[in-house]
Amino acid sequence: MSSSETAFTEICARIGHAAAQQNRTVNLLAVSKTKPAEAVRGLAALGQRRFGENYVQEALAKQRELADLALEWHLIGPLQSNKCREAAEHFDWLQSLDRLKLVAPLARWRPPGRGPLKVLIQVNVDDEMSKSGCRPEDVAGLAAAVAAAAPALELRGLMAIPAPHADPGLRRAAFARMRALFEALRRQHAGVDTLSMGMSEDFELAIAEGATMVRIGSALFGARTAA
Ligand SMILES: *Cc1c(COP(=O)(O)O)cnc(C)c1O
Repeated sequence: MSSSETAFTEICARIGHAAAQQNRTVNLLAVSKTKPAEAVRGLAALGQRRFGENYVQEALAKQRELADLALEWHLIGPLQSNKCREAAEHFDWLQSLDRLKLVAPLARWRPPGRGPLKVLIQVNVDDEMSKSGCRPEDVAGLAAAVAAAAPALELRGLMAIPAPHADPGLRRAAFARMRALFEALRRQHAGVDTLSMGMSEDFELAIAEGATMVRIGSALFGARTAA
């Protein structure tokens, strides 16, 4: 087996084990930013279908190279308003919706033939230094706007990138706050089923605290070289 096959098998087993302890299914999003299309092709050959990218242009180039594969593409990086059209036209999911003014352009540009763009609202759960993600108190208003933009958009849940606290207790607390927000959102909106949190370093903790999707890059593909 190649090293990426070994890594993929091991990560899938760890996710499966953590999910079984919660009696829940957890989906793996393979984060392929900065990695070549061939690396995506390699994981797709092992059965992985969901891939996450941070930059629209980089993603579009890979999508063109991999057009022969039936993959599901998630945009997980910050979205600038001048990229709404490309995001709506070329992705299956947007995980980083964090402000109201993106909702109307995304809905306008979503091609009807592609079905709804699945949307997660990104929440800035504890990292005051980070500029991405809405405040927890803004989730309800944003969610209502996304729901009102059906059928172009489909509200599916929440995403977060908690600050990388060295103290696992602080990370756990941030994940638990996300779970509470997610449960509240679920009571308001039918169809909400996805809580995307947890990365290479902390996905098992995130699953224990309620994640239904984990986003894993370096543990699958190897470390990214600094840009
Ligand atoms: C890069 C990235 C990941 C994956 O991070 P790793 O630590 O490499 O697993 C997950 N989510 C987002 C939003 C990212 O930008």
